[in-house]
Amino acid sequence: HMVAEAVAETPFRYRIPRRGAMRVPGVVFATRRLLPEASGDQALQQVADVATLPGIVTASYAMPDVHWGYGFPIGGVAATDIAEGGVVSPGGVGFDISCGVRLLAAGCDRDGLGRRLERLMDGLGRRVPRGAGRGGVWHVSRAELAEVLAHGARYAVERGHGVPRDLERCEDGGTLPGADPGQVGERAVDRGLGQVGSLGSGNHFLEVQAVDVVHDAAAARAMGLAPGQVCVMIHCGSRGLGHQICTDHVRAMDPVMPRYGIEVPDRQLACAPVDSGPGRAYLAAMAAAANYARANRQLLAEAARRAFAESVGCGLDLVYDISHNMAKLERHPVGEDAAPRLLCVHRKGATRALPPGHPDLPADLSAVGQPVLIPGTMGTASYVLTGVADGDAWHSTCHGAGRVRSRHRAAREIDGHRLRGELEAHGVAVRASSWRGLAEEAPQAYKDVDEVVAAAEGAGLCRKVARLVPLGVVKG
Ligand code: 5GP
Ligand code: MN
Ligand code: MN
Repeated sequence: HMVAEAVAETPFRYRIPRRGAMRVPGVVFATRRLLPEASGDQALQQVADVATLPGIVTASYAMPDVHWGYGFPIGGVAATDIAEGGVVSPGGVGFDISCGVRLLAAGCDRDGLGRRLERLMDGLGRRVPRGAGRGGVWHVSRAELAEVLAHGARYAVERGHGVPRDLERCEDGGTLPGADPGQVGERAVDRGLGQVGSLGSGNHFLEVQAVDVVHDAAAARAMGLAPGQVCVMIHCGSRGLGHQICTDHVRAMDPVMPRYGIEVPDRQLACAPVDSGPGRAYLAAMAAAANYARANRQLLAEAARRAFAESVGCGLDLVYDISHNMAKLERHPVGEDAAPRLLCVHRKGATRALPPGHPDLPADLSAVGQPVLIPGTMGTASYVLTGVADGDAWHSTCHGAGRVRSRHRAAREIDGHRLRGELEAHGVAVRASSWRGLAEEAPQAYKDVDEVVAAAEGAGLCRKVARLVPLGVVKG
C-alpha cells in the first residue's frame, strides 16, 4: 500500500496529490501541528482511498479533527455526481447514522445556577438513560416506531414531546425526507424499539455548559446566547438501529459492486451508485435512521427540560440541532461559475455549515448563517460557530476535537475514577455510567479543540460565535 503524503498549500490547507487510482486530489484542512497526528493513524491514506470512488468530484476532503475511521476517515467529506454514476457509501456516513449535536439555551446564567448545579446534575443523571445497550425514555410500539422512522423529531413533537418552535431549529425541520421504514431490517427495528430517548456509549453525552467567551455578539444574540448563560449540549445518534442498518447495507453492497463495475481499494469502502437499487435502498434506510436520531435527541431535550424545570425553574430554548454523520443530496456548482449539479455529499464526522442567506435556514438565522455545534471534551471547551459565504468542502467543517488516542489506549493509560476526581476538582460535575467509558473519553484522548477550531476558521470553513465551558456532564 502506498503512503499518502500531504503537501502544504497554505498554513491551513494541505494537498495529497493525485496518483494511482485517485480520481481527484485529497485536501486536508489542518495546521502543521495538527497534521502529523492525523498521519499517524492511516487517516491520510483513507483520504486518498476515498478519492478513488466513482463519481467523486473536486477533492476528497478532511477536516482538522480528522482521524481513522471505518473505510472513510472520521472528519471526511466527499461528494459524488449522481448523473455521472456517483456512488453512496455507508462507510462515508458511519455506523452511528445522523449522530449529531443539539444545543439548548437556558433561561439562567452560571451565577444564578450556583449551588443548584449538583441537584440539577442528579436530576439529569436520573432522567437520562445511558450506557451501551440501555433502553430509552419513550417506549414505542412497532407502529409508532414506523412513524418515528418516517417523520423524526416532527412526530415526537406531534406526540407532545416538545414545542413546534423546536422544529424550526432542527436541520430539515426535524424530518429528513425520503425515509422508507420498509428498507429497515427486522433486526434493526428490534434494536431500535426500546432505545428512543437514550444516549448510548461513552462518546455520547449530555453536558451543562456556560458561555465563556462571545466572539461574535450579533450572531450570538440571534442564536439566543449571552456571556455567562447556561446551555445544554446533547450529543447522540441512532443507537443500535443505525448501527444495524449500516451493517446490513455494507453487507448488501459488498457482493454486488462488480455488477456496477466498481472496484475499491478497501472493502470498508463498499458502495453502490446513488441511482441504483442498493444505493436507493441504503439512502431510504439511512434517512429512517436519521429521523430516529433526531427523535432521540428531541426526547433527551425534553428530559433535560423536565430536570431544569424541577431543580432550577427555568426553560430551555433550542438553538439548533445538526447531524455530523450523513449523506445528503445537495446541489452545488462543481468548479468556478459552473451550473449546480446534484451531488451526494457524504459528511462523516463533519458538520454542514450553511452560509448566511441560504434558503434552508430559519428566517431569524438567515442573516447569521447556520449554527455549527462543535463539542470539545468534558474537561475543555466546546464551540458554536457559523457557516460563511465562501465556505469550502461543500459548506462543511469539523465536528469535534478529534481523537489522538484510541479508546483502547485511553482505557489502558487513564484511570477513570481518578479522572472523575480531577474533573470535579476542576469544577465539572460528573455523572458517569462506567469508569472505563469515562477513561476512553478523557480530555487527553483528544486534540486541542481550541486549535482545531482555529484551524477550521483559518481555513475559511466557518467563523467562531461563542466558546462554551463545561459545568457538568452526564456521560454515556
Ligand atoms: P464523535 O461523534 O466522533 O464520537 O465525537 C464528536 C466529538 O465529541 C469528539 O471529537 C470530541 O471532541 C467530543 N466529545 C467527546 N466526549 C465529549 C464530552 O463529554 N463533552 C464534550 N463537550 N465533548 C465531547
Ligand atoms: Mn455517535
Ligand atoms: Mn457523533
